Amino acid sequence: MILDNSLLVLWLGLIGLAVGSFINAAEFRLAKNLPLGTVGGRAARSKCTSCDIQLRVVDLIPVVSFVLLRGRCYSCSERISWQYPVVELITALLFGLSGLAAVSLPEAIFFAACSGVMVFLFIYDLKHMLVLDVVTLPAIVIAFIANWFLGVDLIDMVLGSVIGGGFFAAQYLISRGRWVGGGDIRLGLLAGVILGWQHLLVALMLAYVGGSVIALGMLSTKKVTMKSQVPFAVFFVPAVLVSLFFGDKLLSWYLSFLL
Ligand SMILES: [Zn+2]
Repeated sequence: MILDNSLLVLWLGLIGLAVGSFINAAEFRLAKNLPLGTVGGRAARSKCTSCDIQLRVVDLIPVVSFVLLRGRCYSCSERISWQYPVVELITALLFGLSGLAAVSLPEAIFFAACSGVMVFLFIYDLKHMLVLDVVTLPAIVIAFIANWFLGVDLIDMVLGSVIGGGFFAAQYLISRGRWVGGGDIRLGLLAGVILGWQHLLVALMLAYVGGSVIALGMLSTKKVTMKSQVPFAVFFVPAVLVSLFFGDKLLSWYLSFLL
């Protein structure tokens, strides 16, 4: 890392906390078709999902509020979902990791932005079994331009998106939409643009190895059956992030067995 500046990593982590808080709000509002930012020209304030009371400023501090409130609404005492602090913490960790793994500040920002998008896609697919096009489609365009600006080989990205999108499109066609959804095709395309084709292959392998292990474990405990629907992004997104941060190391480790 050239950013051997722990202050910068700390800053990125704090920004990550705030972004994680936004991801939680965005997940809730997009799922309910509520406006993201404003209502009638006024900022949309967050409310308790149970009693609808408007949250105070002290209730909106990522993680800290959850701890101070002991996980309950100050008004109705209804439990606040663990999703809120967990998403905030994971986003913060990924943002900090972006600062450690990147070789330049623009790359750190790119890694952090990709992490934020991936966390959102993960939590949304986990809860609603849907990969949102309103997120993946603009992200594909922005990631392409950003990676181009960062000097990534265009052929790398195009090949990555063709392999990523094509891989899921083939599964979609063969299974007539039963194994993966249409949104997964766009997710594959996005992953290809972000990672380039070599790291995309690493991510696909991780997703399938990890997914199979977890699926077998869940089948053996009979928590799921062979017919259970699986939100595929839940396996693929962590694999994409591991590949984004550690793809080079994993590739050289893997290739050392072959050569
Ligand atoms: Zn409440």
